[in-house]
Amino acid sequence: MKNKHLTVFNELHDQLLNYPRDTLWDKYLQIIVNEQLRKIEYSDEGFEPEKMSRQQIYAKAKKIDEKRVDSQTAKNAVKTSKLELTLAAFIDDQPDCKRAFIDLGYQPIIVTSASGGGSKNKTLIWMDIEVIESEDVAQEQIDESSVVESDEELEDTEDVSSIIYERKATSDIKLSLLVRLFFKKGELKMLSVSGISLMLLLMLSALLDIVIVIYSILVLLLLSDLPSFKLWQAMVFVVFIPFAYLNWRYFLMPLQSLPRHRVIKAPMFFANINADNTDIEMYRNKDKLNIARITEFTAVCPICSGVIELANGKPDQKQPLVGRCKEAPHAHVYSFDRMTMKGYFLSIKDYSVNNVLGL
Ligand SMILES: [Zn+2]
Repeated sequence: MKNKHLTVFNELHDQLLNYPRDTLWDKYLQIIVNEQLRKIEYSDEGFEPEKMSRQQIYAKAKKIDEKRVDSQTAKNAVKTSKLELTLAAFIDDQPDCKRAFIDLGYQPIIVTSASGGGSKNKTLIWMDIEVIESEDVAQEQIDESSVVESDEELEDTEDVSSIIYERKATSDIKLSLLVRLFFKKGELKMLSVSGISLMLLLMLSALLDIVIVIYSILVLLLLSDLPSFKLWQAMVFVVFIPFAYLNWRYFLMPLQSLPRHRVIKAPMFFANINADNTDIEMYRNKDKLNIARITEFTAVCPICSGVIELANGKPDQKQPLVGRCKEAPHAHVYSFDRMTMKGYFLSIKDYSVNNVLGL
């Protein structure tokens, strides 16, 4: 029996690697199957499942300390019925994967400890295998188990119409060299020595952009009157024009909209090269002084559990800044409200809850 578990879990492990989706639910599945495999490795006897609490799974997926996860957060984030659905859908959606398990005669399933009802009883989650007898029988078994499970999580009906954003702690954000030069712990008072010097630097670079463009155009226009100036020398100046444009368009333009938009995507040089997502937020402190802060807003996509990051609203949305799911950036789109930290679904209208869950 032990070998059966080993082969089935190994197969699932490989399939999850072959069809990677960067979503929380897939990560949960990976964590659960990895833990089962680790346990099998160290046991000589029959299969003993490695039972995990929701906190353990959540902490591993988020790569944080288990002690920092409170049970309610974990309960909201790791729903057993959704785990079962994700696993079944993962197997069903990949023909190769389905085939592989039919060949083995077994498929992996999510098992949970029946919670005793008391709040102290933690639900434990693990993975087991079941025989694939025939399509109908397997279907019935799944239906039965979901009926038993559903009374525990009846109130947790899926709502994909809104999301709640999280703000990353400043201490968790990797700061770039430019930011570290001017920002103190990721924050910059605009009316301070470093704030004003950064402003001056930015103005200087804007001025430099204008000078480059004007100078290059003048050189080109007066080329015939400048006998010592060769064409290739003039071309060198022309090459600077795109640089000036890039600096203007992608560095200075986004920054100048910060006071009005309050939150912008960090332009180049503000974000650390290793970090692919950084936002700048401007807020007023108690003295009504503007402070720019390096931060990051993310949310979990309620449709696919991928990561939602702030992105440009263009071209499909009216708002300048929206939350886009990394896995489906043009279908899973939400609004962003920095005060309530909430977002509402903006994409295709007919994307109702039933359609999304395939019910
Ligand atoms: Zn999504």
